[in-house]
Amino acid sequence: MTYVPPEVIEEKVLEIYEDIKGRYAELKNKDKLKIPTVEMPAQDPHVRAHNLEEVAIGYTLEEAIVEANRCLQCPTQPCIDGCPVRIDIPAFIEKIALNEIQQSVDIIKEASLLPAICGRVCPQESQCQATCIVGKAKKDVDKAVAIGRLERFAADWERERGAIKVPEVKPETGKKVAIVGSGPAGLVVAADVRREGHDVTIFEAFHKLGGVMRYGIPEFRLPNDIVDIEISTLKKMGIKFQMNYVVGRTRKLTDLMAKDGFDAVFLGTGAGLPIFMGIEGENLVGVFSANEYLTRANLMRAFDREHADTPIYKSKVVAVLGGGNVAMDSARMALRLGAEKVYVIYRRTEVEMPARKEEVLHAKEEGIEFHFLQNAKRILGDEKGRVVGMECLRYELGEPDASGRRRPVVIEGSEFTIDLDTVIVAIGNGSNPLISQTVPELKVNKWGNIVVNEKQKSSVDKIYAGGDIVLGAATVILAMGEGRKAAASINELLAENVETEKEAEINS
Ligand SMILES: Cc1cc2nc3c(=O)[nH]c(=O)nc-3n(C[C@H](O)[C@H](O)[C@H](O)COP(=O)(O)OP(=O)(O)OC[C@H]3O[C@@H](n4cnc5c(N)ncnc54)[C@H](O)[C@@H]3O)c2cc1C
Ligand code: SF4
Repeated sequence: MTYVPPEVIEEKVLEIYEDIKGRYAELKNKDKLKIPTVEMPAQDPHVRAHNLEEVAIGYTLEEAIVEANRCLQCPTQPCIDGCPVRIDIPAFIEKIALNEIQQSVDIIKEASLLPAICGRVCPQESQCQATCIVGKAKKDVDKAVAIGRLERFAADWERERGAIKVPEVKPETGKKVAIVGSGPAGLVVAADVRREGHDVTIFEAFHKLGGVMRYGIPEFRLPNDIVDIEISTLKKMGIKFQMNYVVGRTRKLTDLMAKDGFDAVFLGTGAGLPIFMGIEGENLVGVFSANEYLTRANLMRAFDREHADTPIYKSKVVAVLGGGNVAMDSARMALRLGAEKVYVIYRRTEVEMPARKEEVLHAKEEGIEFHFLQNAKRILGDEKGRVVGMECLRYELGEPDASGRRRPVVIEGSEFTIDLDTVIVAIGNGSNPLISQTVPELKVNKWGNIVVNEKQKSSVDKIYAGGDIVLGAATVILAMGEGRKAAASINELLAENVETEKEAEINS
């Protein structure tokens, strides 16, 4: 697929819009199926490769209405089954088709608190859009109704009008809940628990809120302003935030409950511990974990060379090891930080890459070079300990492994060397052991992920957990889904406590 400028998309769409305007109810399925997919307008790849502005520009009203008219309103609603938080997708899309945008936002928000974020970063192509009947009819998931783009449109429409509604909060119950971590899991728990009138405090290790949405996913995919506005809604609900507060260091988790009076705790501490390759040369100057690289660039604003003090390595040739979203973000960030050449080195093929298809496409358009069926064997340094190259091996695909993907098998004797000055390791993240080490009763699995039951309750009374700290590195929407479940369990626990206290008061 080649890049199509926004004005070309708009011109094409306006013609269709004029034809279908106001006819949603009378359009037959065969008419809807003839409407072509409305591409997402995006910045020119040559321009955006050197700025941090958002790549995807977003639909205009007419573009959104035309795309919404592609929805068949299927009675079986398979798209809802594909959504981890079960947004009523046909209903919100119908409202867009009818130009009733606020009603559309209201429907989305019944199930998802952070639609502007999910509309931007959710892997819709493997969730709701993968099950969409239009995509199936056209035998191409890329031609499914663009549910994510429509979700983003509706959320942006509301935000741009300054009309974001603050959810209602019930009268105060006097119960206190501590949330550890301000990523999507923690934020969702905070909102859902606060709605019931409980007093909520979020403790965050960093000086800024949002978890990976702030320090990992770059501005060009998810602008910080959007994360800030979503969080400001929580502040308006009366949720308290304690930043620069590392639970397990600043204060023990058990003290929060025993001494500070919290009635329940939710752990949403994510998977922020970088995993390295364990190869020779990984301690050379010029080797970064993707986490460090992106945190410097995003959270510590290293890209803003004129205003930020954060140093960042001046790279000419960068290799990123890995094939997920984190690898794509690192590669595209390296380009924006001035690298002349950026390679993504992945030991399987493009088919097995876990990164979102759209991100891979955008990376290619921007000039990132992909090297498949290759991997690093060792990183080479000069006498000053700085990276100067990397020895790589070639691979072929063997039988499928436990993940169902074909196993990469090394081709013996296939070593070759590439010259470069920076290596970014983006092969995954594990969970930080800080909390589990300080609370030995907290049961974790062999990867250090907290073990929970179907209600997100941990092995310790009144402690719940969800998101990446339970699932391992996953997705924003899955973290939110777990947060939703945990909040329901915490609300249930606290409602029982309130009832018991009332009975005790009556009987005393
Ligand atoms: C670079 C990158 C790109 C990604 N791209 C996508 C994408 O496109 N789409 C998608 O769906 N997902 C993406 N993901 C994954 C997604 O961001 C995560 O699955 C999601 O953020 C997990 O949410 P969480 O709330 O569990 O944890 P996190 O977002 O990791 O938040 C955890 C928070 O807890 C804080 N914390 C940790 N320990 C403590 C402590 N002891 N005390 C206090 N605070 C603590 C951390 O500082 C952090 O702010 C990406 C991840 C990365 C790293
Ligand atoms: S499956 Fe696709 S076409 Fe059918 S209701 Fe859902 S979004 Fe619309």
